[in-house]
Amino acid sequence: MSTVIPIADLRIATARDSIDALLRAKGSDAPSTGSVLDTRSRALRDLRISVTDRCNFRCVYCMPKDVYDAEYKFLPRADLLTFEEITRVARIFVDLGVSKIRLTGGEPLLRRNLERLVEMLARLGDVDLTLTTNGALLAKKAQSLRDAGLKRVTVSLDSLDDPTFRAMNDVDFPVARVLEGIDAAASAGLSPVKINMVVKRGANESSILPMARRFKGSGHIVRFIEYMDVGATNGWKMDDVVSAAEIVRSIDAEMPLVGADPSYAGEVAGRWRYRDGGGEIGVIASVTQAFCRDCTRARLSTDGRFYTCLFANAGYDLRALLRRDSADAEISNAIAAIWRQRADRYSEIRTANTASVPKVEMSYIGG
Ligand code: SAM
Repeated sequence: MSTVIPIADLRIATARDSIDALLRAKGSDAPSTGSVLDTRSRALRDLRISVTDRCNFRCVYCMPKDVYDAEYKFLPRADLLTFEEITRVARIFVDLGVSKIRLTGGEPLLRRNLERLVEMLARLGDVDLTLTTNGALLAKKAQSLRDAGLKRVTVSLDSLDDPTFRAMNDVDFPVARVLEGIDAAASAGLSPVKINMVVKRGANESSILPMARRFKGSGHIVRFIEYMDVGATNGWKMDDVVSAAEIVRSIDAEMPLVGADPSYAGEVAGRWRYRDGGGEIGVIASVTQAFCRDCTRARLSTDGRFYTCLFANAGYDLRALLRRDSADAEISNAIAAIWRQRADRYSEIRTANTASVPKVEMSYIGG
């Protein structure tokens, strides 16, 4: 593995001063409402909320064990946004045009009483409320999450081959328990269940076809994800990326596919349908076919920083605003001002050199 850059410094690197500067420049007491556009005319539509920076897996490409070991200092409880704080910020984002909220992490099902947060967010109105999980605790929680108002789930599963999967999650977790979680989610009505498989060359590309075969005709949608250079700990190399084109070619050779239109503007996954009517797959080609142009996603970290890109290296400290009794209008204006000056397009300008630029870790910012 290449040199590991410690991320602790990055987590405290904050652009709080720039929030104050933005607010001074704005100088209005009226809350921003309605759609806001960034410098490239991209609207603010999706919010990913990381509810914990902890995970019960140590996926080699995300939270490698040699960094996230027993010594690793996860955020102390007092630093986490409370459910009330998360809901308040989420409501402000919704008023600014967000229509889709995804709970993530870390592993979101590790956050105690998550169902209570789901219930609070479900009351925000017409919002597509979803969650991404590794599935380890899903069999136990699918029904209560559904009852609380969750609409759908995405489950990460990198292989159906037990030794391969156990090696990738690096905590010896078996495939069968994730499959139980997927079944429980479908029975609870959290469907269609999406299944995320990150493809890393040399690790699991031989699992692409078995995965496609297994879920074809099941009603679940497998999404194959190009391995990305998120964070600074996974030792990413371009050679490790199996391109979406290669993935589609290999599936199409056995199970013919036809391209399908996006279900909505800004959809991350490219959609492909099986020609025989056996459902569809998605491919997320953020490395070989960057989709920055349509990116409408904002991220809220576990400790309340607002990030405008998955590959950012600094966020805006909304928790400081929340905890100094700022009015909703002040927070809303700060978010709108930050979004209006957003110019991120990391994936479009990625090179072998940018991969080593410090970035926040996905477990903290929310995958
Ligand atoms: N713990 C949850 C899970 O496993 O789904 C949610 C958080 S995880 C960071 C969210 C998604 O990001 C997972 O599907 C994971 O496979 C994906 N992911 C993590 N690191 C990645 C990387 N380097 N490249 C591509 N996808 C990655």
